Amino acid sequence: MDQLEDFHKLVHLDLKGAPPRMSYYEQIFPVISSFGATGLLVEYEDMFPYHDKLAHLKAPHAYTQEDILKLHELAAKSNLTVIPLMQTFGHFEFVLKHDENRAVREVEGYPNTLCPTHPDSFPLVTELLTQIMNLHFTDKYLHIGADEVWHIGKCPRCQVEMESKGMSTEDLFQMWVFKVARWFKKEYPHVTIIMWDDMIRNIPAEKIKSSGLCDIVEPMVWQYQAKTFDLPPDLFEKYSAVFPSIWVASAFKGATGSTQFLPPIQHHINNNLMWLTVLSEKKHTKKFKGICLTGWQRYDHYAVLCELLPVALPSLCLCLRVVSQAAFTEADHDLVSQKLGFRHRINVLPFPRPQVIEQQMSFPGHKVYVGVQMWSNFVCRYQAISNSEGMLGWFSDYLRSRNFTNPLQVENILTQIVEVLDNILELKTHLVPWMQEVFFEDTVEEWIGSFVDPLIDKLNDVVKECKKQILIGGRVRDYKKAQMR
Ligand SMILES: [Zn+2]
Repeated sequence: MDQLEDFHKLVHLDLKGAPPRMSYYEQIFPVISSFGATGLLVEYEDMFPYHDKLAHLKAPHAYTQEDILKLHELAAKSNLTVIPLMQTFGHFEFVLKHDENRAVREVEGYPNTLCPTHPDSFPLVTELLTQIMNLHFTDKYLHIGADEVWHIGKCPRCQVEMESKGMSTEDLFQMWVFKVARWFKKEYPHVTIIMWDDMIRNIPAEKIKSSGLCDIVEPMVWQYQAKTFDLPPDLFEKYSAVFPSIWVASAFKGATGSTQFLPPIQHHINNNLMWLTVLSEKKHTKKFKGICLTGWQRYDHYAVLCELLPVALPSLCLCLRVVSQAAFTEADHDLVSQKLGFRHRINVLPFPRPQVIEQQMSFPGHKVYVGVQMWSNFVCRYQAISNSEGMLGWFSDYLRSRNFTNPLQVENILTQIVEVLDNILELKTHLVPWMQEVFFEDTVEEWIGSFVDPLIDKLNDVVKECKKQILIGGRVRDYKKAQMR
């Protein structure tokens, strides 16, 4: 790329899980700005202060109107453009999970997709966008989502509509997005609309043109792989011919596994480098408007949390460095590491573990980073014990169910399990207050309740079983008799 200075470098804040406190934004915005970020793509989901007929969509810990104004103020201080993202078709779970909105599901049993032909759908979406824009009146862009719309034309009403007008599911998709976008442009002519591109990737240029979409939206092409991109070979030629501008999206976290604790940083660096290669093809350069570094926090509204933002901040800063410099050298790696307060180079490979963990960094949220690194070490230690010769060979379910165990082996297992358990219990006492500095109470509760407490329970069960087996003492008699001795 020749003109990286004019090229938007957005950071995606996926608030559908683990939304940070405003105080954390205050700390990280100057950091990401210093590494080259020019804007934020804010996906509120249920974190927006919806009101009146949409009040039920608001999460208990949603931001307030004052928070949204504060977010703008903090972003402006760091020269970051704010772009709100509001889903308008698929990934509509946070709306469709509510009984109040159940009627507008495309498939009654699934909360994913909105029905585009239901009479209540359009008023619902326009009200959502109106409420968003009332708190984003100065912003120049809006992202309307529209990715992964899995169920189109499934309901009887949509099928009748398609049949009567001779439409395909692709036509119905484009018709709905155009309807929403056209309304929006009338209401907010100064705002440029962006949408995810995956649903139109395989639609021929002519059909995109005739839908009218190409005149009112700009596509954002997402791709998170590190080695090869799974995109149609002529995609950028097609989009270049049809759209005035194209956006692309890479990832710095939340794209390599729905239960990932630590981002595989090397993967994300390579993903961003791959995008630079694509962007460097001169014939498209003038069309590319910017890149968004996505940081997914859940795979969808119902999924568990993946990598937390503070844990992925080093990954984000390294990836920002990559897209700002259009390269990644050892000097870049050193510079980012030093600026974030690492004494050594940031480790870009989270596995194998356990790993030595640096603890004296200075970046915002580094305590959560350290805590989750320690947690990952303990999880790996537990997995190693579970797969050890001692556990598999002398402590199988079969042997335990028959109380036929060798105390020599069991004592060894007990020592190791107690050590891991003690470590995790100790870590939990620190990790909870560290997380509370960044997140609201419910996020801390969810993370601990999803990952830490279940493992503590599991370890306690193993300890109990070990003690029972040791009491039996390798005798060939039943357990009750052993207890009576
Ligand atoms: Zn329908």
